[in-house]
Amino acid sequence: DATAAEMMAAIDEATAASAHLAAQGQRPHYDYLVVGAGFAGAVMAERLAADGGKRVLVVDRRPHIAGNAYDVADAAGILIHQYGPHIFHTNSDEVFAYLSNFTRWRAYEHRVLADVDGRRVPVPINRTTLNALYDAGLETDADAAAFLAARAEPVAQVRTSEDVVVSAVGHELYRTFFRGYTRKQWGLDPSALDKSVTARVPTRTSTDDRYFTDRHQAMPAAGFTAMFAAMLDHPNITVLTGTDFAEAAAAVSYDRLVYTGPIDEYFGYCHGRLPYRSLCFEHRTLPVERHQEVAVVNYPDEAVPHTRITEYKHLTGQRSPVTSITIEYPAAEGDPYYPIPRPENHQLYKRYEALALAEPDVIFVGRLATYRYYNMDQVVGQALATYRRLKAGHADIAPA
Ligand code: FAD
Ligand code: UDP
Repeated sequence: DATAAEMMAAIDEATAASAHLAAQGQRPHYDYLVVGAGFAGAVMAERLAADGGKRVLVVDRRPHIAGNAYDVADAAGILIHQYGPHIFHTNSDEVFAYLSNFTRWRAYEHRVLADVDGRRVPVPINRTTLNALYDAGLETDADAAAFLAARAEPVAQVRTSEDVVVSAVGHELYRTFFRGYTRKQWGLDPSALDKSVTARVPTRTSTDDRYFTDRHQAMPAAGFTAMFAAMLDHPNITVLTGTDFAEAAAAVSYDRLVYTGPIDEYFGYCHGRLPYRSLCFEHRTLPVERHQEVAVVNYPDEAVPHTRITEYKHLTGQRSPVTSITIEYPAAEGDPYYPIPRPENHQLYKRYEALALAEPDVIFVGRLATYRYYNMDQVVGQALATYRRLKAGHADIAPA
């Protein structure tokens, strides 16, 4: 049973880690303790060590680096993403150039189909989608724009994730593509979610069927985990996986802390729990060369329990007589994968942020520590900016 085996591996590694620290007899000193080896922690550690000349200990409670972007070869040798599909895309030249120091890239443009009553149509909704569902014969962008304009139901003030979609495409397409998917994914009706959630997915009048239109779209050639290993491979960086913050804090001393875990956990949930949405991942290998036409198929039907299925060979270009997929089932309990964007949650986050601001030697960065629904590139950008501010404010970092 993979999960039990993984837990055993985690426990073994944690024991080895504390033994390693205790064997040193005294509490070793680091300039920085970095909690979390995901994008936020790895970028901060790399900058502090390579640019700042600091000695850094990075710990992660999971038995591996790379955070939610962790990928690993499964039993069939297919590179899968343990925590669901991660597709890299960015408009930031800075972020792309920075990561390019640690990986080569495989060009990849993401495409997604939605399963609507057994038919597969492009998402985001585009002209092809409309022609397939309505036999609409739309030939130009202007045709599609007019078709959508006739269905759109303008909303005086666009506030929620329902407003965004209904004001662009009307209730029927909203129900077909967004209502059920969102209710499954978030456990909330789109009317209860901030507009920023469904605003991530545009509506198109062209036949462009790419999921993203960013300037840079690519996958790390040897995978995310290999890229993280290169980032953390520095003589000033020590990495201990399978090691919790509390365990590390008891075993070493440090001048400053970079914390990338959930901010409410850091403060002992003193203001109550910040809501996070979780997922269950069902990883499967199938005895066929190809399972689906594109990397991801979405299932917007609320009666279907999963939200999407990912087939990894599309992302990697790997060849194999078998294929590996992941089926995603949203869950209320489990690892905190998604901060839930809605006004009351933001208010609660602000109370934790106020506590964070009162701790100048603790730096909160990343998706969980700043409670933001950020993509990978946004977290890299946030960490690079955080490092720059830290360096500007502390004469001891990277003395000339
Ligand atoms: P994380 O990756 O969560 O890393 C935080 C780490 O801190 C974790 O490994 C955790 O174990 C560790 N930690 C927490 N608390 C402690 C503690 N007390 N002690 C020790 N360790 C601790 N982004 C994209 O750009 N494209 C995508 O296609 C995409 N797909 C996604 C799909 C899914 C299902 C999910 C959940 C996210 C996706 N993302 C995607 C977002 C991406 O995962 C995040 O932006 C990114 O991983 C955030 O990095 P982070 O370092 O902030 O957090
Ligand atoms: N969404 C939807 N139907 C879709 C795709 C997305 O309703 O077919 C909504 C859903 O609420 C989702 C949000 O739009 O959580 C953002 O989608 P995206 O693909 O950006 O989410 P990710 O998986 O990257 O977090």
